[in-house]
Amino acid sequence: MTAAGRADLLVVGASFAGVACATEAARAGLRVILIERKTDAGDKLHTTGIVVKEAADEIERLGHFAPELIRPIRGVRLYGSRLASVALDSPGYFFLATDTPNLMRWLIEQAINAGVDVRLGTLFTGAQRETGGVVVDNIGPVRFIVGADGPTSKVARTFNLGLNREFLFGVEAELTGVSLPEPERLHCFLDRRLARGYIGWAFDGVGVTQIGLAARQRHGRDKVDLDAFIAKLGQIFDLASMKVVARRAGLIPIGGPVDPIAGDRVLLVGDAAGLVSPLTAGGIHTALESGRAAAVAIATALAHDSGGALSTTIDVPQFAAKRLLRKAFDLFQSDRLFDALLNTGALAIAARLVYFHRRGLLSAGAWRDLLRR
Ligand SMILES: Cc1cc2nc3c(=O)[nH]c(=O)nc-3n(C[C@H](O)[C@H](O)[C@H](O)COP(=O)(O)OP(=O)(O)OC[C@H]3O[C@@H](n4cnc5c(N)ncnc54)[C@H](O)[C@@H]3O)c2cc1C
Repeated sequence: MTAAGRADLLVVGASFAGVACATEAARAGLRVILIERKTDAGDKLHTTGIVVKEAADEIERLGHFAPELIRPIRGVRLYGSRLASVALDSPGYFFLATDTPNLMRWLIEQAINAGVDVRLGTLFTGAQRETGGVVVDNIGPVRFIVGADGPTSKVARTFNLGLNREFLFGVEAELTGVSLPEPERLHCFLDRRLARGYIGWAFDGVGVTQIGLAARQRHGRDKVDLDAFIAKLGQIFDLASMKVVARRAGLIPIGGPVDPIAGDRVLLVGDAAGLVSPLTAGGIHTALESGRAAAVAIATALAHDSGGALSTTIDVPQFAAKRLLRKAFDLFQSDRLFDALLNTGALAIAARLVYFHRRGLLSAGAWRDLLRR
């Protein structure tokens, strides 16, 4: 605590964004408390945990993680609704499947090693403002708060910040007793009936096979029928000996950044700030990046704290092109059309841009990749 008895920073939520923020802030010399409602950060996950290689670089900044925590995935096989498929590759590019429960636990260790006061099993329930800081229920006075508490952030609601309003809902099963063909690939399935607005997926992860799907949530929580999807995959994969060992599920915000993301002595990061690709629904990389950027911004702001109002913010991606493509996908998703296009060069090119190039045609890597063919 500072001389005034306050922590410099309270981070709410110990997942990718919160751990990155707390660890970097502690390394910058701040006194940081990180709270997480779960007693085990690796429990009840709501992510598939596939990371792009840029996200792996962000994780590596936090510490050198054991190779057993990851498994490279070197390509994609994209299936139409009738299960015809096309293989997609981008030379040199890969994703990483992660042992996400243990990766989360390892991330918490990095925060503790950096000097963060980590309090698992601690729920953020509310806070009141006071001069020069905030008094947080069950925690006490702090100088700054970061909301890294996910898509329906309580921190955002407490401080009247922007809220996520558009979501996918994703459900996934972890299975044993299954080994997929082409284990080096992520298998992705277009099916408007089962995965409206998104896709289904299957891949051999680290020690388990993961099968899941996500769909647009329009009116409350529409049903996402994982059992029907698994039954469909039984037509092409041998799932006879499968055993479900765990389930993961959660909301994925896809409306772009919330507004505002910051207020007096409070800042949102990761899913709480809406920093998820509206198209791919990948949010781990932006969660890590925004957490780290927030730590730098807050350390700088607190160094000039004169005890009055104190605001700081971070640059966030606006996802303008991806939001447009998301609207187009929502409007025109058609199994018949995708089935017809599946083996044409056009769909393969579009899919390679989505899967392998975060900045689409704006990235030099995308042009190199496309011109190579
Ligand atoms: C089914 C599914 C699959 C996904 N798959 C991928 C993928 O493969 N790759 C990818 O890049 N992205 C994926 N995403 C998105 C990705 O998981 C998120 O973007 C990422 O986890 C965001 O990290 P975060 O730290 O911002 O928030 P979260 O991971 O949502 O973490 C928020 C944390 O805050 C805690 N918390 C919430 N409220 C409180 C409170 N009041 N008090 C204390 N703690 C609280 C929660 O317990 C949680 O630990 C997926 C999402 C879902 C739902």
